[in-house]
Amino acid sequence: MPPLAWNRVRPSTGQGRAARGPGWPGRCGICLAWTPGGGVCRACLDTHAPALPRCLSCAAQVPPGLAHCGRCLARPPVHVRAVAAFDYVFPWDRAIASFKFRDGLGWTDSLARALCDAVARSPDAGGPTGAQVVTAVPLSDARLRERGYNQAWEIARRVARWQGLPAHHDLLRRLRDTPHQASLDRAARAANLQGVFMPDGPAARAAVQGRVVALVDDVFTTGATAGAAAAALREAGASAVHVWVLARTPARRER
Ligand SMILES: [Zn+2]
Ligand SMILES: [Zn+2]
Repeated sequence: MPPLAWNRVRPSTGQGRAARGPGWPGRCGICLAWTPGGGVCRACLDTHAPALPRCLSCAAQVPPGLAHCGRCLARPPVHVRAVAAFDYVFPWDRAIASFKFRDGLGWTDSLARALCDAVARSPDAGGPTGAQVVTAVPLSDARLRERGYNQAWEIARRVARWQGLPAHHDLLRRLRDTPHQASLDRAARAANLQGVFMPDGPAARAAVQGRVVALVDDVFTTGATAGAAAAALREAGASAVHVWVLARTPARRER
């Protein structure tokens, strides 16, 4: 077996328990300035992940003073709250691609910090009236073996720790991959996700029973994936589901 690189994780450790990397300084992945621990520097987080008025239900940007976008008012999603750290635009689209597909766990702390900040400033998302349990949208077993870590869980467990909340990687199972979502329209995405997620046994049901669950994912586009996973958590007994994502695709770019 080849030696384990610092930013890889053994597939057998479930939905991700990455080896801790050394905390030496690295260059900011965006502006290349030296920054403690590498990842993204504070200045770039402040510049590229500003606090913006967002729909409470889907995190799409809304005009100041509005709580919800028109789409959510017309058809409220399964999840009652959505938080996004930033829009899925440059430089975050590149950062997330690196984080997901190129062993980019060096980005994790910075991305998780941006999401934690967004949760902290969102009404009822964190704090005593917010989520009580944190989990992540799972990968299928095959995808987890291929990638070696679940990027959503890597974010989820950090945000949970910093928010002082319990985190569980095994509340949901993903029964199959849905690889071609990007080419589908909204209705087809929802149909493609039918039956993909299910609660992972009695222990998962006990963990979510009557609790507000925060479901973490990397990118929110139409919300079809989050909606399907949220529905499975509600079916398992969660009293409500929040969706916390790194990046929200701007509404105009939705299909
Ligand atoms: Zn920077
Ligand atoms: Zn909305």
